[in-house]
Order: sequence, then structure tokens, then C-alpha cells
Amino acid sequence: MQSKKSQPQNPFSPSKELQLFLAGRSLLREELPFSPTIIETHLQQGYLQKQSGLEKIQSNWQCRRCGTQKPHRIGSYPCAVCKKTCYYCRHCLMMRRVASCSELFQWTGPPPTYTTFSKKMLQWEGTLSPGQQQASDSIVNRIAKAGKKAEKMLVWAVCGSGKTELLFAGIHTALQLGMRICIATPRTDVVLELVPRLQAAFPNTVIAALYGGSTDRDKFAPLTIATTHQLFRFANAFDVMIVDEVDAFPFSFDESLAFAVKKASKETTVTIYLTATPTSVWKRACRKGTASCITIPARFHKHPLPVPTLQWCGNWRKSLEKQRLPLNVKNWVLYRLKTKKQALLFFPSVASIKQALPYFQAIDPHIHLVYAEDPLRKEKVQKMRTKEIMILLTTTILERGVTFPNLDVAVIGAENAIFTEAALVQIAGRVGRSAQYPFGTVTFFHHGRTKAMLAALSQIEGMNRQARRRGWLMND
Ligand SMILES: [Zn+2]
Ligand SMILES: [Zn+2]
Repeated sequence: MQSKKSQPQNPFSPSKELQLFLAGRSLLREELPFSPTIIETHLQQGYLQKQSGLEKIQSNWQCRRCGTQKPHRIGSYPCAVCKKTCYYCRHCLMMRRVASCSELFQWTGPPPTYTTFSKKMLQWEGTLSPGQQQASDSIVNRIAKAGKKAEKMLVWAVCGSGKTELLFAGIHTALQLGMRICIATPRTDVVLELVPRLQAAFPNTVIAALYGGSTDRDKFAPLTIATTHQLFRFANAFDVMIVDEVDAFPFSFDESLAFAVKKASKETTVTIYLTATPTSVWKRACRKGTASCITIPARFHKHPLPVPTLQWCGNWRKSLEKQRLPLNVKNWVLYRLKTKKQALLFFPSVASIKQALPYFQAIDPHIHLVYAEDPLRKEKVQKMRTKEIMILLTTTILERGVTFPNLDVAVIGAENAIFTEAALVQIAGRVGRSAQYPFGTVTFFHHGRTKAMLAALSQIEGMNRQARRRGWLMND
């Protein structure tokens, strides 16, 4: 093939639509609404590149879209097109079938540019807490110096420290430099919550919100807010990648999502990981200084994190079998009812909340339960918001992401393995989040202390100590 430069008499003008549509993405032919002629000429001119959907590595197939290489995730079928057996990826099948005979297209021409606006791009008048300010400055610094090699940093920010606001200045810097930014988060709820807040802060910036079923899919935007699954459709796209809740399910258990973050990044991307509860690998890296890590130990309202109390409640399962609640649990609930304080009670399993509910309803019929597959889940969470429900029994689904302003929480059966250190810190982090009600109690009812309980306690106390030492707490 001859290069473009050798044919000045007939200069090729690439399609702007195709460029905007495909730049930074990796899509199947059937996902490209362009004619065969357009695709063919751009391939010939070197503006497009195509690769087979699955790649054979030794004797195993690997999916080029989601990176899976586990043999049980690769299926085979008699292909009508090829008239032979073809292979396909089961793992990302919900996003259309990627097969050994399908092709993924990427834009290899010049990247699109968009107009960068003046300094008024960021319209946010709030002020940052000292902890937020320090993290914000550090992010700005990192982004301003980006471009030579990949950079990674972890922001370890306690629950309620105000993670979103500390990103604004960094996003602003990146936009002014003409960079493309992505905020990836494991949950759709978070995408839906972040979009209006960021749009209000950056009213002149096009923001694409990507989650299962969203309509922004084909929009070229300098700022993308996406669930981590949506990153499978990107390749070599973002200059700044912000990964929210890096420890949260399903992110930490699904290595293909780590593959997706990497694939969607460039060689020089600045990646910022946000978490309130880093994994032990991250914590070690922070302590040793092998990863750059910023800690925000204080909440934005400058009150300390509520410290859990541990209370032995005997064999609570046996109590339930005998159709009664442990006495201290019962008293805990009665006190919340009497003082009209909202409360969440976390249980280790759906079976245990279902078993316990009648005994709670015997105290007050307005106590309800919620779990992941509950068809009324959204309604019940909404009723908690409007205070139509005052006490809710829940599984760990409400461990993160929810904020009710004036709340106490208890864990029943805190000794269960499902309550890891991170889960317990997140649960405790539901309490005292609003500036109006910065206090509340956290009680771990248990039938035997665990390492996780003690570690959660010491993590929370450690953060409060750090915050106090730095002078980031009000005199308490
Ligand atoms: Zn796949
Ligand atoms: Zn085939």
C-alpha cells in the first residue's frame, strides 16, 4: 500500500463522522453505521485498523474485547457464514457476540479535537476541605505534567470526605489541555448520581453517560462517565482515567474489568484510583511508597468518623430459632423507635433477614427488609429517604453508595465472613455523613470477635488520629 503523502494529486479526506464515532473505541462491524465503501477506503488509507475478535494464544482463545481467556468462557458454534466451527466469547456476550471470525475496528487516524473553552469552564463556587484541597492539588499537578509515561495514583479518602469535588480542578486542567477524561465506576446508580453534579460544574462541556441501556453511546465527549463494563467498547481512548471504588464488587473480583481499564487507557494515561477501603495490596504499596498515595482521613464537615462499638449478643441464630431476638438487639431497636432515629440493620444473608423479620415486626410492624433481588428494592430505599420507613433490615447491598442523613447502624452477626474489614468500614461510613447530623452510633453485634472487626475498628480510629494530628477536625 502506498502512503498518503505519495498521492498529493488526489488527497484523501477522511470522514469526520467516522472519526468522531470511532476514535478511542473498538467496535464490531455491525456496530458501525457506515457503508462498506467508507470502511474499505479508510482501511486502505490507514485510518482504520481491524483485528479478529478472538485471538489464539497457544492453545487458548482470548477475547480482544473483554480480555477473557478462561476456556469455560469461550464457546463454539457451527458458523453459518464460515461454514465451519467458530468460537465466541460468552463473557461479554450481552454486548453482542464477538467471534473468532468477527472483526473489531479501531480508528488509527489523527484524534479528533474539540474546542476548549475559556477559563469559565468550571463553574463551581464551593470550597474544599484541607484534605480535599491537598488531593485536588496533587491531581492537578499530575495531570499538568502528563504525557511522558503512564502514572498511577491512589486517593484513599474516608467515607464522607467528598470525593467528587476534589476531582473538579483536575478535570478542569485536563479539559483545558484538550485531554479526554473518563470516570469509571462499578455501579449504574453512581453514574446517574455523578452526571448532573458534573454537568452543573462544567455546564459547557459535553458529557457522555454510559451504562447498560443508556442513549449516549455514540456521542463523542471530552468527559465520559461510565460503568466499568462499558469500557469494553473503548481502546486507547483516555488521557485521564478515574476509577471510582476500585475495591468494590464487581471490580475487584473481575480481572476482565482491570483489562478493560488498561485497554481504554493510552500509554501515557494518568490513572487515579479512588477508594475508602483499599485492598491490602494497595495499603502495602502506600506504606512502602511504591505507589503514590494520598490519604484524606477527615470528612468534609470536619467531624471525626463514628467509631463502632462491639457488643456480644450470644448465639443470635439460636435465638431466632427459638423465635426471639437477642435482648441487646431488641433494646437497640426499641431505643431507635422511641427516639425516632432512622436505622439500618445489616445481616449476613437474605435467609437470615427473612427469618428475623417477623420478630422485628412484632416490635413494630413498620420495620421492613431489603435485599438485592427484592422487587421493591428501589421503592423501599426511596421510602427510607422520605422517612416512611424508619428501620430497615438489609444485606450488604446497602453497604455503600447510600446516604441517609440522620442514621444509626447495627450489624447483626458481625462475626460472619461476609463482613470483611472493608465491608465493616463501609457500613460504619453510612453514619454521620451530613453536616447537619454529623453524629450517630455504629454497633457490631457479634457472637465472637473477629480479626476483621478489630481491623475495621483500628482503621477508623487510625484515620481519626491522622485527621486530628493534621488539625483537620473541629475541636471535639
Ligand atoms: Zn469477551
Ligand atoms: Zn464464523
